Amino acid sequence: MGMIMVKCPQTGRVIPTGIRSDRETFLRSVVFYGNTHCPVCRANHSWFAREAWVEEPVVRPREIFGDAPLC
Ligand SMILES: [Zn+2]
Repeated sequence: MGMIMVKCPQTGRVIPTGIRSDRETFLRSVVFYGNTHCPVCRANHSWFAREAWVEEPVVRPREIFGDAPLC
C-alpha cells in the first residue's frame, strides 16, 4: 500500500492526499478525482488522477540492485 500524492498547484510542493491505495488499484480507477486539504497553503485543492501518483513508502535497495556484491 502506498499514499496517493499530488502536487500543490500554488506552490509546486508535493503533498499527501491522505488516501491510501496501491499502484494497481490506482491505475485501474479510470474516473477518479479528489479534494485534498493542502498543509502548505491551508486551502483545498481539487485534483485528477492523471495529476496524482502513488508513492510507496518502502524502498528496498536489495530488490533494485539484486544480489550483486557491493564493493
Ligand atoms: Zn497548496
